[in-house]
Amino acid sequence: MLHQVNDHSLGSGGQSRASLREDLQEFLGRETPLHQLDDLTKVNPVTLETVLRCLQARYMADVFYTNAGCTLVALNPFKPVPQLYTLELMREYHAASELQKLKPHIFTVAEQTYRNVKSLIHPVNQSIVVSGESGAGKTWTSRCLMKFYAVVAAAPTSWESPKIAERIEQRILNSNPVMEAFGNACTLRNNNSSRFGKFIQLQLNRAQQMTGAAVQTYLLEKTRVACQASSERNFHIFYQICKGASEDERLQWHLPKGAAFSWLPNPERTLEEDCFEVTREAMLHLGIDSTTQNNIFKVLAGLLHLGNIRFANSEDEAQPCQLMDNAKCSVRTSASLLGLREDMLLETVRIRTIRAGKQQQVFRKPCPQAECDTRRDCLAKVVYERLFDWLVSVINSSICADPDAWTAFIGLLDVYGFESFPNNSLEQLCINYANEKLQQHFVAHYLRAQQEEYALEGLEWSFVSYQDNQTCLDLIEGSPISVCSLLNEECRLNRPSSAAQLQTRIEGALAGSPCLGHNKLSREPSFIVVHYAGPVRYLTAGLVEKNKDPVPPELTELLQLSQDPLLTVLFPTQPKEKTQEEPPGQSRAPALTVVSKFKASLEQLLLVLHSTTPHYIRCIKPNSQGQPQTFLQEEVLSQLEACGLVETIHISAAGFPIRVSHQNFMERYASLRRLRPHTPSGLHNLCAARGHSGQLPCSEETTLQTVLRDLLHALPALTRTAATP
Ligand code: ATP
Ligand code: MG
Repeated sequence: MLHQVNDHSLGSGGQSRASLREDLQEFLGRETPLHQLDDLTKVNPVTLETVLRCLQARYMADVFYTNAGCTLVALNPFKPVPQLYTLELMREYHAASELQKLKPHIFTVAEQTYRNVKSLIHPVNQSIVVSGESGAGKTWTSRCLMKFYAVVAAAPTSWESPKIAERIEQRILNSNPVMEAFGNACTLRNNNSSRFGKFIQLQLNRAQQMTGAAVQTYLLEKTRVACQASSERNFHIFYQICKGASEDERLQWHLPKGAAFSWLPNPERTLEEDCFEVTREAMLHLGIDSTTQNNIFKVLAGLLHLGNIRFANSEDEAQPCQLMDNAKCSVRTSASLLGLREDMLLETVRIRTIRAGKQQQVFRKPCPQAECDTRRDCLAKVVYERLFDWLVSVINSSICADPDAWTAFIGLLDVYGFESFPNNSLEQLCINYANEKLQQHFVAHYLRAQQEEYALEGLEWSFVSYQDNQTCLDLIEGSPISVCSLLNEECRLNRPSSAAQLQTRIEGALAGSPCLGHNKLSREPSFIVVHYAGPVRYLTAGLVEKNKDPVPPELTELLQLSQDPLLTVLFPTQPKEKTQEEPPGQSRAPALTVVSKFKASLEQLLLVLHSTTPHYIRCIKPNSQGQPQTFLQEEVLSQLEACGLVETIHISAAGFPIRVSHQNFMERYASLRRLRPHTPSGLHNLCAARGHSGQLPCSEETTLQTVLRDLLHALPALTRTAATP
């Protein structure tokens, strides 16, 4: 290890010392122009500033991909760059003998992953985790990766005829427009924002050909069906049917041109994603015939009409709410499109049924207007959620290969990135919980990769000082007490409690956790979780209710009576469900809460990821306006923090922040080696570094300054040696 030398021990170097300093700086930091540095761990030294400058220089030079150790950073170009995704380029990466010599690209990751599958006797499953904030390019990237595999992993004939729709690769690609039509929406941050998480396993046979795929989705934002923030939109599919239906279909689905729907805000805005034909065509190729499609669109039209039903409070509380304006017509149309009886639809939405007592006596209570609205919205949400899940299962049955037709898979995870808004709720808690888990998985993998690299170099290093995010995960999901368990407990006890009480309970029970913070200045009851990417304040109001996500049994029972063929499939008749209003103490299996379901699916996902070799692509949005050639350092920095890259950089810097190729160093400074007797021992170590793979290490304390000092110290001796014949 290099040791520090005192300034007074520096010999007199004058002019030569200054020139050596310049030379050294050039050597360490500027020997390659920043935009040509294709790995962020190679910037010298590795600091946030140098990393940002490097990314910026590359972005401005239209270079959008940069390695960061075992991660690929993908900057969103916000402009078409077709030359980056051509068939020729895919083949070039696929055929490359030394992949790492090609420019960083998602195709490098894709190809490496593909090669890894077969690199051992037994195929090893791989996964690519694509993360980043909304609009950063995750879905775009995932789509490109799928196209890459559809080309390189296709059966040989597809190279000549890649357009044959019946081919499995094409069918797998067709799942994208369908899932995006039903699961994506225009938001303030992205015109085509995925409102669900997605993990797709591309299945490969022994010959490395893609034989099928399986899709798993997470947390569809179903509330969007009935509630859209201003300037945002509902799911694309609703606009597609309203804009793209034929005259005949308009009549069938009661969608006259220009009809106004309260759940269809901003219909005047036309997006690229509004193409109904593309969705229909893709559905057809996935085996969803036109009769089934018409049925789906009819049900969706039914939901739009349902959204136009408006209630007004009745003067007499014992009477059901009144219908407003044209709502009667909306009830009729909606009921007819959903295959329901008009009177039953209206009654179910307006009247709550309570079963109580040992005899399960039935009481009927008219709901106030707000509750009628909630029940109406709930009806739409439950229909849409089941429809989406059903679609995913239909897609899976169309694209999934038989178990004996594949031996390994490449998993692509397109999952929402870390979120922190002024007000955060259960959705953000789940999303950030998932990111915390993925970050833990990533760090474990990254540390392992670094340690392997150091071992290869013959270097000793231990990461004892690194703080794992387990403490934060314990706070969120730990046992016996955590935020999740407390929320579930509240749901189980079904007791009325205020937002302030929930805050007190959480803060009281989890006070010992270093990751729990509280904001004394906040007026609204909340608690703070200190995530790896920064602290996030979660409001406690509505948390328990959201976690329960109750569906009044009458609503499900109503849908089970539907005459519509699709709804009959989505809501099969089951033994009568028990009501939620049973008095405490009655035996009832607790319904699964949102966090329990999410936790289970996350654990399942992590189990799958752990069984694979992971690869990471971090998508970054250079600015939030979607402008090309605009790199806003502040915005990028916060994303580097959120995707854990800052931590990676810190870990990287805590290891050996300065990495110089051994050969390069020796070429320039070999003469110093002869000075061993006159130089501090550190320099000797530097020159004798063991880097057979070309890296010269410097440990934590030996920062650039120390190296510089050591070399400066050596200068007089160097001058003397040079002068000696
Ligand atoms: P969300 O979390 O909201 O779903 P996302 O990360 O999936 O966001 P994308 O929908 O993939 O974001 O990307 C947003 C937009 O950025 C795309 O619609 C496209 O216009 C643009 N974009 C992303 N990547 C690229 C690229 N490589 N080349 C050109 N444009 C891109
Ligand atoms: Mg997306």
